[in-house]
Amino acid sequence: MITAIVGINWGDEGKGRMVDLLSEKYDIVSRYQGGNNAGHTVVNEKGKFILNLLPSGILRETTVNLMGTGMVIDIEHLCGELQRLREKGIVITPDNLKISDKATICMPYHKLLDGLEEDRLGDAKFGSTRRGIAPVYADKYMKKTLRMSNLFDDEDVLEEKVRSIVEWKNLTVVNGYEHEAIDPKEMVKWLKTYGDPLKEYVCDSTYFLEDAISKGKNIMFEAQLGALRDIDFGIYPFTSSSSVLAAYAPIGAGIPFAKLDNVVGVIKAYSSCVGEGPFTCEFFGAEAEELRGAGQEYGAATGRPRRVGGFDVVASRYGVMVQGATELALTKLDILSGMEKIPVCVAYDIDGEITKQFPTGERLNRAKPVYEYMPGFSGDISKCKKLEDLPQEAIDYIKYIEKEMQCPIKYVSVGAERNEYIELY
Ligand code: GDP
Repeated sequence: MITAIVGINWGDEGKGRMVDLLSEKYDIVSRYQGGNNAGHTVVNEKGKFILNLLPSGILRETTVNLMGTGMVIDIEHLCGELQRLREKGIVITPDNLKISDKATICMPYHKLLDGLEEDRLGDAKFGSTRRGIAPVYADKYMKKTLRMSNLFDDEDVLEEKVRSIVEWKNLTVVNGYEHEAIDPKEMVKWLKTYGDPLKEYVCDSTYFLEDAISKGKNIMFEAQLGALRDIDFGIYPFTSSSSVLAAYAPIGAGIPFAKLDNVVGVIKAYSSCVGEGPFTCEFFGAEAEELRGAGQEYGAATGRPRRVGGFDVVASRYGVMVQGATELALTKLDILSGMEKIPVCVAYDIDGEITKQFPTGERLNRAKPVYEYMPGFSGDISKCKKLEDLPQEAIDYIKYIEKEMQCPIKYVSVGAERNEYIELY
């Protein structure tokens, strides 16, 4: 069985929590895009873990975790993440962690350039996490960056490659941003310091996964971010720099020839969004403060307060469509408990035209939310195990979302802990 777990909204839907729950049935969990620009938060009996680069399956002893071909890896950050997990007693060996030899290395100058550009933009900044993700993906497509396989180059070969790339980079760093030049020797030293300890995990993910499929292993692809952050189908340019969609997962993991058996779309009971860009259903003032506080909506990677709003039918239905979700996991329903009425953005008003089709470009910027309210519910629902255990208003809300999304809701998450969920069928 090959499954992708993906985000339907703007990210932070609770994908990490769902992967942690569902990964039990899978032999391999693979990330397929992105870098350490977002974080999954997983809470289980071992503690609370923030994972930026490692697949969430790393917290299960028998799961093999793969960092796929489509990822961009800051190897210094990865070494730190591995150390933090080991300090909490998580065992990580080449048996349960594999890194694709074709994955791209995110270098210190990518981070530097990300920050320099955000600073140059000033008030018009993009809200980048400054982790170097856009610059490194740009270089990947310029074919001027290093991959994990380069860690095995002979020293003189690596030095020459780095020298040549850095010479080109310095044209921008020095002449463009008037910053001190990057020293190629420092870069080689950095590659050795953080690359050498990772060499034992590097493998050819294509042959590794092909072999796994032939042995009937179950594989799960774990997405970072959500559909609306996809480079092609999201709210460009306020997107990530990679394809976050399920359709890309087999490519980004290393097996472009594989077909997905199912796609689990993780969808949140309300909306949240980090950084700049159009967010039609946004709340402001006290209403926003209340929801942000209840949902603890602060970025896992950066601690930034997230923008929040009611459930957005238009954006979410679009997310379900482009992800090709075959089932949904509705998360954070418990956060809505105590609300007298539940706000839902049911349509967009664009210059007087009411639409349920998610727009692009300036039309999206001009869209205004059409809000309706559903009856609220109260009480602690985190211990509910069956749909019938929930207040009727909560059941009605679930059924409403299911109908609007045109996709069955299979799981409802009612708390952050591993066992705080309801399986509907
Ligand atoms: P991800 O990037 O999609 O994995 O999402 P984040 O990790 O940024 O945000 C999800 C946060 O919500 C984490 O702190 C989770 O522990 C928490 N969470 C996930 N599902 C639920 C839920 O159903 N209820 C509550 N209260 N918290 C949840």
